[in-house]
Amino acid sequence: MEQMKEDIKSWTLQELTEHMKAQGEKAFRAAQMYQWMHVKLARGFSEMTNLPSAFRAQCAERYIYTALTPVLVQESALDGTRKFLFALADGNLVESVWMRYKHGNSVCISSQVGCRMGCRFCASTLDGLERNLTPSEMLDQIYAITGITGERVSNVVVMGTGEPLDNYDNLLRFLRILTDENGLHISQRNVTVSTCGLVPKMRQLADEKLQITLALSLHATTDEKRKKLMPVANRYSIAELMETCAYYFEKTGRRITFEYSLVGGVNDTDEDARELSTLARSVNCHVNLIPVNPIKERDYVQSEASRIRAFQAKLERNHVTVTVRREMGRDIDGACGQLRRGHLHREQ
Ligand code: SAH
Repeated sequence: MEQMKEDIKSWTLQELTEHMKAQGEKAFRAAQMYQWMHVKLARGFSEMTNLPSAFRAQCAERYIYTALTPVLVQESALDGTRKFLFALADGNLVESVWMRYKHGNSVCISSQVGCRMGCRFCASTLDGLERNLTPSEMLDQIYAITGITGERVSNVVVMGTGEPLDNYDNLLRFLRILTDENGLHISQRNVTVSTCGLVPKMRQLADEKLQITLALSLHATTDEKRKKLMPVANRYSIAELMETCAYYFEKTGRRITFEYSLVGGVNDTDEDARELSTLARSVNCHVNLIPVNPIKERDYVQSEASRIRAFQAKLERNHVTVTVRREMGRDIDGACGQLRRGHLHREQ
């Protein structure tokens, strides 16, 4: 039965090795297979040509081998950013983005099909959560893009559709395999996980003592204002979030990123900048300002360019390290979840 098959690409090398040994196979089989899956990025057992064909056939019967099908690829004429819409084996769709920077190629992946966090400005959450992605499906986004572009990915940001810490166990497994020296071996320092602020999971992540960057989607400086933008603010206060960020820094030595999407007339006043400076100075952090990407379902608008500059300048005067996110792929449904949603609606 299909459901009984195990998802072999979601196993760590150690688990795969133990599994193969239990099957009476030699340990080196596991190493060979792991290399096919996570280094050579094979798209199926049939490509694993140094394995006996009877063994490959047996694997195809026993295990699920996930692979993504590209449904749509859009390339920005402005900056070469490519946005991919992939179909999963069950027909669900996820989107991923490939961006080329001076310091290397970066991929932004999705961690869930849909999202249940309900942030008001975000397109990914409008239809709720469909399901979690498996570790293999998160890896596959990077593997498929590497295959299509033919270029190595050096940075991974978990900032696409979904709340990664709402899919914690799968996320951790994904991070371990992604950064494993026996796999693609992406440096932990080049991986960023972005969260809307699930406090208990942020603490748990701190205790894993990984060297990844944690990005907190803050977007407001008071609980009252944050609740209007992000329902999760009803569960965790900004004070708790700041304590948790300090804890993360203490455990990992990694500076936090505060993401702050600037929404015209909502969170972009001088007063907001002053309050954000106070929060930012209380934690070892870097602030990333994101001009909000308007979605048609909501009437939020971007702050004026001059307002964004003034906001940034105010933070700088208060000695806060701040950058304004360059808008990549503006011409190709840049905002979270817009591509998938647009496609689903066109299909209907
Ligand atoms: N759930 C995670 C990661 C996915 S969202 C999180 O909340 O951090 C990635 C980032 O994009 C978050 O900071 C999110 O708040 C922001 N975002 C979502 N929709 C946006 C939009 N329309 N304009 C600007 N930023 C947006």
